[in-house]
Amino acid sequence: MGYIVARTERIAIIGAGMAGLTCARRLADAGYAPAVFDKGRGIGGRLATRRTPDGLQFDHGAQYATARSPDFEALLKQARNAGAAALWADGADQAHIVGTPGMSGLGKHLGQGLDIRQGIAVTGLNRVDDGWAVTFAGGAEVFDRVVVTVPAPQVSDLLGLEHPMSREVAAVRLDPCVTLMAAFDPLAPRPFITRADSDDPLTWIAQDSSKPDRQAPACWVAQASTVWSTAHLELSPNALVALMLPMLCDRLGTDVSTLRYAAAHRWRYARVSVPLGRPFARNRSGTLYAGGDWCLGPRIEAAWSSGEAIAQHILDASFSE
Ligand SMILES: Cc1cc2nc3c(=O)[nH]c(=O)nc-3n(C[C@H](O)[C@H](O)[C@H](O)COP(=O)(O)OP(=O)(O)OC[C@H]3O[C@@H](n4cnc5c(N)ncnc54)[C@H](O)[C@@H]3O)c2cc1C
Repeated sequence: MGYIVARTERIAIIGAGMAGLTCARRLADAGYAPAVFDKGRGIGGRLATRRTPDGLQFDHGAQYATARSPDFEALLKQARNAGAAALWADGADQAHIVGTPGMSGLGKHLGQGLDIRQGIAVTGLNRVDDGWAVTFAGGAEVFDRVVVTVPAPQVSDLLGLEHPMSREVAAVRLDPCVTLMAAFDPLAPRPFITRADSDDPLTWIAQDSSKPDRQAPACWVAQASTVWSTAHLELSPNALVALMLPMLCDRLGTDVSTLRYAAAHRWRYARVSVPLGRPFARNRSGTLYAGGDWCLGPRIEAAWSSGEAIAQHILDASFSE
């Protein structure tokens, strides 16, 4: 019969997105008890679902997951079996898997049973005699190893611009994406399930409520192109709604009188355009790691691969010590 050896090494993971949760899950399964810090109120990072008091919901981050590797496919299958994911019948050739009841459901599934400290923004990482001091508002805690899974441009916020790891990831680029969430009268037109058009300022429009296990009808998500998002990123959410809503109404063939709800979200670091090119960065002693989708590419699976690779490296190192 298999058993898990409890391991006393203190490991902190900064970020509870797909990369951080995957790494934490693997380490926890091997007997570690990693502490996962996330500044957000929920977990999942860009696997995000916005819910309104009226019962509307929108996946305003990642739209769906696709699997290229058998191992990631197996994870999605396991999530489906657990009721945390399902196939989205959106007419695509490739299987599009979505979290249930929202994309954040995937993150919640991975995070089950982990020590996740939500609503804590880590402000600094400093080398101390017996490890790394993880600093946050109101305190600090020392860990033997730290795994940073925040977007690459934010690594230097924690380590300082001159830290070798900040310099190592400095060339990585993530493009912004402004997302519009809108709900219409259920009788308003629903001309398609998804629409992708790289020449349109709204490059992606999805009938979010057509995904499985969504209760509210006629909820839509529209993503602006990188060019449009970059040009308008600093506008207020209300100003963004005012610009994007007429475009969405036009593409749907409806008018604004059928609108029930609208909001905009600004993702400053949405999609990787220049990846690191390897699954993670680390210091020589193996006490500090950095990873996330930005290591390999703009996909949920890339974040998963990075988190897996970091965990494997830590496990290999600790078994050889
Ligand atoms: C609009 C949009 C659409 C997308 N569509 C798709 C899609 O359809 N399919 C697909 O495969 N991928 C898609 N992606 C990309 C996908 O969402 C990402 O590749 C993946 O979720 C990244 O996971 P991650 O763990 O690397 O990073 P994140 O999910 O960004 O996780 C990082 C976490 O770190 C936390 N954090 C940051 N700074 C701190 C700090 N100082 N202290 C504590 N916590 C901190 C954040 O709160 C966050 O939870 C999309 C992304 C966006 C934004």
